[in-house]
This record gives sequence, structure tokens and C-alpha cells, in this order.
Amino acid sequence: MKQLERVKIDEFKAHFRGDVLLPGDADYDDVRKIWNGMFDRRPAIIARCVGTSDVLNAVNFARVNNLLVAVKGGGHNSAGNAVCDDGIMIDLSLMRRVNVHPKKKTLRVDGGALLGDMDYETQLHGLAVSGGGIVSHTGVGGLTLGGGFGWISRKHGLAIDNLISAEVVTADGKLVTASADENPDLFWGIRGGGGNFGIVTSFEFNCVAIGPEVYSGLIVKKFEDAKAYMQFHREYVRSLPDDMTAWMVVRHAPPLPFLPKGVHGKMVVVVPFVWLGDEARGAQLVQPIREATTSHGEAIGMNPWVGWQSGFDGLVEHGARNYWKSHHVKELSDDCIDRIVEFAETMPSDEIEVFIPHMEGAPSRVPDNTTAFAHRKTPFVLNIHTRWRNASDDERCLAWARDFHRATEPFAQGVYVNFLSDEGEDRVKEAYTQEVWDRLVQVKKKYDPNNLFRMNQNIKPV
Ligand SMILES: Cc1cc2nc3c(=O)[nH]c(=O)nc-3n(C[C@H](O)[C@H](O)[C@H](O)COP(=O)(O)OP(=O)(O)OC[C@H]3O[C@@H](n4cnc5c(N)ncnc54)[C@H](O)[C@@H]3O)c2cc1C
Repeated sequence: MKQLERVKIDEFKAHFRGDVLLPGDADYDDVRKIWNGMFDRRPAIIARCVGTSDVLNAVNFARVNNLLVAVKGGGHNSAGNAVCDDGIMIDLSLMRRVNVHPKKKTLRVDGGALLGDMDYETQLHGLAVSGGGIVSHTGVGGLTLGGGFGWISRKHGLAIDNLISAEVVTADGKLVTASADENPDLFWGIRGGGGNFGIVTSFEFNCVAIGPEVYSGLIVKKFEDAKAYMQFHREYVRSLPDDMTAWMVVRHAPPLPFLPKGVHGKMVVVVPFVWLGDEARGAQLVQPIREATTSHGEAIGMNPWVGWQSGFDGLVEHGARNYWKSHHVKELSDDCIDRIVEFAETMPSDEIEVFIPHMEGAPSRVPDNTTAFAHRKTPFVLNIHTRWRNASDDERCLAWARDFHRATEPFAQGVYVNFLSDEGEDRVKEAYTQEVWDRLVQVKKKYDPNNLFRMNQNIKPV
């Protein structure tokens, strides 16, 4: 740090309630870490905010000193935007309060909270936020600003469809409310446009009643029948009521206790599901999945909602190297299935998942352009979640993911902004329709004309 900067930092610290960390400070290396181990960036300064005034001070400090800004919510995004080299990391991870209003069935949650924080507090009252993801250490902030889907979003909508309002610190250091009544253009933009327009210090959501247990589970299908199973699945899930969500994950079998030992590490098609109804009817709906092709095993029953929401955490812990390539897929045609099976056969790491969630339902019934989230009617997502441990495997794993992605491009129709890597502006545009993109640019021009918030899937104000 140069002498002048040191003086400025001391001045900044004087009005900052949280910790200000500099390279060499005790917690600096821990706090700059994010979920994706591919990123080892070193901010010049980390502002660990404990409240809205800290966020406001940090934004003003960054703007006045012309610093590159990275905002860390849960730090989960595979693109690595939560941390920058040089510049300032505005870290929200100490801001995790959740206040549930059980009578109104609403909640207010801080911008740095994790999905697990929200799940535990809402379940105390038999509630949940729809669209709140499937891994409990994901951040509410990044997830919501990109859209947010989960096990019950087919029934109850995306996270943004349940958002009532948000408190936002804008680039000019103002604290504003974004809701249907206040700053509606900003409210529209933050529902799908990511962190482009400001830092959300708190979100207010509508909740839905759920649990405490849900009929849910996993059926593990033999990979030899992958094509036949996928042909069945693509039709069957589209015939199901919105209360039932069944997805596919193609991967090497983890050492799940209900699988014979010989299956561990073998390529399989996992079919996880959640049914929001009584057990008997759930069992009837699962039966065709069981019968479609041969299974290696299954674990099905009434599971606590909170437990189910964190049941997959262990497979995607922090620290591994990750590279995501994704599309929305307009149909799982035979050709598309052939490409999936072909690339699964050459998977370069045991931890890779090809995640194929079914998206249709309540989100598709929201009229286009109500929010900035586009491609609401596309039935499936194909997420190539490439994950490995050693830097020496980088080239092999990246090449596999890129080739797979290219081979499935003919079946693509847009992309979910939260599943993008650092792929350039043209790819960010693919997350939106032209009409939505043009409108996002206008909102960006109004709220962040100098592009202070650009460590994200960036919408330039031009
Ligand atoms: C293992 C795993 C599972 C996932 N599962 C799902 C899923 O089921 N459903 C789903 O919809 N998505 C899922 N995602 C994607 C997830 O929604 C995105 O990665 C999301 O960006 C994570 O948010 P975060 O706050 O943890 O990330 P961060 O990396 O902290 O932030 C992501 C982006 O959002 C910005 N940001 C974060 N918080 C704020 C805030 N409060 N105000 C302003 N900007 C902010 C950051 O600056 C950054 O640009 C998953 C991701 C992973 C890694």
C-alpha cells in the first residue's frame, strides 16, 4: 500500500463497523477464498460489512478511489466474480440475519445469508422460500438476483417470483427500496439482472407452507439404459403435476449406503425427486420411474425438508476446481440424449455432474418481461458441472466441458445467468431476450452509469 492509500484506509476504517482486511492480515486469506478453487485472487482491501451503513461506506470508498469492486454474497458462483485482484472485495458474509413474519408468511433476510440460514429459520414456522436452491451453502444474494430455482419452484415459482422488495445500495451511495411501488424499474432489473445495479442489503420474500417432511428420494438408474431412461423421462416429467419435481443427474455413483459397493464409482443416472403431497400418491407417481429401466437402488421416504435441502451439500463442498458450461435446452431430442451419453462415457473426473433439471410450471406461467429473467418456458436445463481437484487436470477438464457444450449447442435455447462462467458479453446476452437486454441497459444507465458494479455477468451502460 502506498502512503496516501494507507491514510485513506485509516480514514475509511474509522467509520466502518466491521473488519477491514489487508494482505497479510490474519483472516485475509480465509475471507478472500470463494467456493470455486480455480480462483486465487488477491483484493487490495476486503471490507467485511456487518450492516447497511458499512455497505454504503464501502461503496462510497470504492467509487471515490476508483477501485474495482467485487461483491461477495455466498461466494458460490462458479464464474468467480465474488473476488477480484487488487480493488475492493465488499464481503457480505457476516450479514446473515433472517427475520420471519409467521402471520404474514413473509421473511426479511440479509444480503449475505446462505440458503441454509433461510431454510432453518423458515422451517421453525413450517415455511420455506420457493426457488431457494438445492445446496444449503449457496448465497441467497447471487441466487435471487439471477432468478433462483429449486425443488418447489415448479409449484410455487422462482425466488424472484416470490420477492416482495429489496433494500439496495446504489453506485452513488444511496440506500433505496426496490419494489412494485418504489423504483419499479430497479425492482424489475434485480429480478434476473444479477448484481449489476447495486448491492442488496436485504430481501423480503413471500413464503409458502411446507414440511416438516416431504416425500422425496433418489432412484439410481443403470447407465447402460441411459438413453432409454432419458427418452422416458423427457416425456414423463412433462406430464407430472407441478407438485412433483423429478430431475436427472448423470455422474459417477457416490458411495451411497443404499447402493451395492460394486456400483460405487460407476457411471449412473440419478433421479432425485420431491413430491408435495401424501406418501401414497407420491409412491404412485414414482412407480413409472422405477419401472422405466433397471435401477441399482433407491432411497425414498418422508425426509425432513431442512435435511433434504442440505442432503447434497457434501458432493459440492468448497474448494474443488470447477468449470460450468450450461444451456437451457428446448427439447431432449434423441440426438441431444446421444451427445449426453457420449460425453458421459468420457467424463474426465469422478466428481463431474451433468445436471438436467425440469423447469416448467409456475415460472413458465409468469408473463414474459414481468421480470428480467427470460427463457421461462424452456423445459430443461443442461448444466455441465465440471469438477476436479488438481490443476494438472485443468486443460483436460476444460476441453471436455467446452467440447460437450459445443456438441449440445444445436439443442440450446438461452442460458441461466447464474450458470454462466466468464464467457463474455455475447453469452451474457443469451441469458436474455433482446427486449429484456435493451431494458436492462436502460436500468443500468440509470442506477450505475459508470459501471462501478462490473464484477458480474456484466450489462454495460451503453
Ligand atoms: C453447488 C451449487 C449449487 C447451485 N444450485 C442452484 C440451484 O439449485 N438453483 C439456482 O437457482 N442456482 C443454483 N446455483 C447457482 C447459484 O444461484 C449462483 O452460483 C449464485 O450466483 C450464487 O450466489 P452467491 O451469493 O453464493 O454467489 P457470489 O459468488 O457471492 O455472487 C454471485 C454474483 O452475485 C453478486 N451478489 C451476490 N450477493 C449480492 C448482493 N447481496 N447484492 C448484490 N450483488 C450480489 C456477486 O457480486 C456476484 O456477481 C448453484 C451453485 C452452486 C455452486
